Amino acid sequence: MFKNIPFHRVNWVTSSFLIGTLFLSLTAVPLYIWNFGLDWFQCALFFVMLCACGFSITLGYHRMFSHLAFRGHWSVRLFTLIFGAGAFENSALMWSCEHRTHHKFVDHDDDPYDINKGLFHAHVGWLMFKLRPVLTYENVTDLQKDKLVMWQHRHTQTIAVLVAFVLPAILGYAWDGWSAALGAFLIAGVARVVFLQHCTFCINSLCHWIGKRPYSSRCSARDSWITAVVTFGEGYHNYHHEFQHDYRNGVKPWQFDPTKWIIWTLNLVGLADNLRRVPSEKILLAELGEAQRRMETKLECPHLTDGARAYFTSAYERLQATATEWAQLKTAQMEITREMMGELREEVRHAIESLKLRDHELARVAPNA
Ligand SMILES: [Zn+2]
Ligand SMILES: [Zn+2]
Repeated sequence: MFKNIPFHRVNWVTSSFLIGTLFLSLTAVPLYIWNFGLDWFQCALFFVMLCACGFSITLGYHRMFSHLAFRGHWSVRLFTLIFGAGAFENSALMWSCEHRTHHKFVDHDDDPYDINKGLFHAHVGWLMFKLRPVLTYENVTDLQKDKLVMWQHRHTQTIAVLVAFVLPAILGYAWDGWSAALGAFLIAGVARVVFLQHCTFCINSLCHWIGKRPYSSRCSARDSWITAVVTFGEGYHNYHHEFQHDYRNGVKPWQFDPTKWIIWTLNLVGLADNLRRVPSEKILLAELGEAQRRMETKLECPHLTDGARAYFTSAYERLQATATEWAQLKTAQMEITREMMGELREEVRHAIESLKLRDHELARVAPNA
């Protein structure tokens, strides 16, 4: 059973942590609940810690640090660095370095969590086995200039232990003594770390496995509301891989993307700015292009019945007509804009000229004015 495991490549520290915390969650946590029960405090603390650490990964590590999709106030950066460490997913610097590499080499050998190596590898196998070369951090030199990022990078493990285990235990003790402290350590600490880790690991595994590819079939990333629920809104991964600098993943109004809603709210209260958005026209063009590509693939299928072929041909022609109309409208719009810009430029030039003339007049009539 174990003969196929490449033991020489096992990352023992990471593997022991992942397996050890999972083991405790499946044994000690049910035992504690059996003996002491579960009150609302333990449930609330689990949920609060889950959200604080979870959004620190999606909003902080992912969208703010890895993709610079918006600029966060120092308090937002500090919060996400502290609670992001509590997710036990390494420092923001290392996370961003690996994630930027993932986007650059997606589905290829240099992709750290390449889905072509299997669902297990993309989910957790890449962490358990040392398949990757040593990181050089060449793609995160911008983040290395951030003092808060570098402070967190130097002390990640200490902050992680304090936030993930010590903080819940202290809060539990304050709530109801030693038994509540043990419960908080096990439930809001250990079980929450395991649950959250697997939620965010799903971004690398399930988001490249389940769902549709409405924006581009060039890579394996997919859009799915199921994975969006599990990953705090990161499930619209096909959109994300196509437009990685957009602060939104669920770009349609009905899509579940709580990370986007929080960024939008932070912007509203002045804690985030420079929110990057892809123009809706560009998004629609990507969808149109992908729909055309899908139709072409269907029409190339030799086993298509005559009825199906006629249906797909008419749909394809409708799409082509829409694309052509779009292009014509765009050209016409650009023409109009160009003309308007020309007129505007002329008006500005006249205004400047008349201003100069008046200045000249004034200087002549009242030389000392
Ligand atoms: Zn991805
Ligand atoms: Zn990303």
